[in-house]
Amino acid sequence: MNYTIDEVKNILASKKSQICNLGISHTVLTVIQDLLEYQTPKNPLPNGTHKGFNNYCCPSCKRPLSTMCEDFQMPYCENCGQKINWNMKR
Ligand SMILES: [Zn+2]
Repeated sequence: MNYTIDEVKNILASKKSQICNLGISHTVLTVIQDLLEYQTPKNPLPNGTHKGFNNYCCPSCKRPLSTMCEDFQMPYCENCGQKINWNMKR
């Protein structure tokens, strides 16, 4: 079966007690939810301009994202792996 990330997140949130009954610890569940969060694209945060280009930083770890030109944008944060949604500024 194919679930979207949002569907999986909803399932994890709504069936937490059942999942814990399967022997999966609360810690593991939290880690899985965090990983799913990183898979959900987030808008980059504006971080000033550099040589005429807009700079952005990671919405999760706040590290600058390497965007040296408008055509090349990292789909993920190199530092923490947060998926970045660049569509917001197109
Ligand atoms: Zn990051």
